[in-house]
Amino acid sequence: MAPQLDPFFQKVDELKQPFIERLREAVAIQSVSAQAESRPDVVKMGHWVADQLKTLGAEVELRELGKEPGREHLDLPPVVLARYGSDPKKRTILVYGHYDVQPAEKEDGWATEPFDLTVDEQGRMFGRGSTDDKGPVLGWINIIDAHKQAGVEFPVNLLCCFEGMEEFGSLGLEEFVKAEGPKYFKDTDAVCISDNYWLGTEKPCLTYGLRGCNYYSLTISGPGQDLHSGVFGGTAHEPMTDLVTLLAKLVDCQGNILIPGIKELIAPVTDDEQGLYDAITYSMDDFHISLGSETSIMPTKEGTLMRRWRFPSLSIHGVEGAYSAPGCKTVIPAKVLGKFSIRTVPNMQSEDVTRLVTEFINAEAAKLQTKNKIEVALMHDGKCIPITLTFEEATGKNVLLLPMGSSTDAPHSINEKLDTRNYIEGTKLLGAYLHYVAEEPLN
Ligand code: MN
Ligand code: MN
Repeated sequence: MAPQLDPFFQKVDELKQPFIERLREAVAIQSVSAQAESRPDVVKMGHWVADQLKTLGAEVELRELGKEPGREHLDLPPVVLARYGSDPKKRTILVYGHYDVQPAEKEDGWATEPFDLTVDEQGRMFGRGSTDDKGPVLGWINIIDAHKQAGVEFPVNLLCCFEGMEEFGSLGLEEFVKAEGPKYFKDTDAVCISDNYWLGTEKPCLTYGLRGCNYYSLTISGPGQDLHSGVFGGTAHEPMTDLVTLLAKLVDCQGNILIPGIKELIAPVTDDEQGLYDAITYSMDDFHISLGSETSIMPTKEGTLMRRWRFPSLSIHGVEGAYSAPGCKTVIPAKVLGKFSIRTVPNMQSEDVTRLVTEFINAEAAKLQTKNKIEVALMHDGKCIPITLTFEEATGKNVLLLPMGSSTDAPHSINEKLDTRNYIEGTKLLGAYLHYVAEEPLN
């Protein structure tokens, strides 16, 4: 039987303005996890989230994670654990989110103050963290609020796990979640994470897979120290020249991976799969808006989606040790480290990818006839958003990724926003999920 959602939905509509004010308060707290000087604000944000939950009647605990590895003068911000309801007859649903945000400065090119939520005539709410991930975290809090105010019985026991270090590698969280699997999270029947985005702007989506990531460094060294090009140019093997030569052999400008053997690892496309893409609500216009330009490689939505979802890609991310400040400095760097990653898809095993990458780079390096030292190394590999798998392992239950924001929200970027429509309808969606999961068979 379909749950009766109307009174809850109506209440969410009525509470639109207070919900926007709640997001405004949250965005105003500059909880930037990467910056040491912002740590007090990250902690303040954790307490703010805890207070919101307490006020609504949840049992809340702030769990400390100790010192930050590598920056031992900093305490890690607390994990906010909350339980709302403990009826043994109800399902227990665990939700995860993060209350920290990426750095933001007006000078980066924001049109508005990044920590001052600004709503335009179209209902777009601009502010750092609006969509990543304060809006969705408040979505869960708003759902409790709306149920209370509407006098509607809450359909499940809700467990919340909100962390404050997600944008800086979720330090300490993996061990914490594993340890709490048989303790705080032991009654969990299913896990829901709202920390990703719709494919487009019109239709909600369920994310059931993400490409993995193998990240590599390519280090080239030779001269004992940085050199002057006027004195040494043309007389010594230059690490930077070796590096750009090798990086250029990995991928072409049409996004094709040039490393032999990689293509053969990929699961083949079946006719059935090929037929699925046409019906997906998505357009090249959506893609160009999220890209912020029309610099797409593939001419069609089908080609774009297949490249985004089911084929691997190789991206070159940066070079350490090279001169990067403005102006003309005639230095020859003595040691450079290039960084690139390969997004992996089904059937690609990490070890196979690393073997092919290493063999290819070593073979190409030999052709350069350089005397510099060249080393390739795997920096990390992972099958998808790491914490998703951690929750799956720690609870032994399914994890659902149920996004609130749309493809045009620009998380991590300047002018990050969440549409009021996505915030309000997304709150209804997450609430409806709790009602449905309360009644449907789970396996
Ligand atoms: Mn996020
Ligand atoms: Mn993020």
